[in-house]
Amino acid sequence: MDRCNRCQAILEDGTLRFVARLRLCGDYGALPDPETQAGPTADVLQAALDAAANTPESQLMETVVEEFSFVVCPSCRARLRQDPAGAATVPGPRGVRQ
Ligand SMILES: [Zn+2]
Repeated sequence: MDRCNRCQAILEDGTLRFVARLRLCGDYGALPDPETQAGPTADVLQAALDAAANTPESQLMETVVEEFSFVVCPSCRARLRQDPAGAATVPGPRGVRQ
């Protein structure tokens, strides 16, 4: 017997459940557009490189890529499909969005 990692519902053996995989990749948003060649200035790129050079390796590696997986029940799957980032429940600059 497993439990949904999101709502803790019991998942009896043989019942449908879903495995969610989450991959977080660091991105400074500083890559040139391959079609228009528009992109950040050399100053912006240098600042990103300087920031990386001044970050401890272990912390830098955490920003490159992290992967998580968890099991969810059908109800939580439906909620994840509607709002995968959980934006409806995350506090923003003006408090929790309704
Ligand atoms: Zn659930």
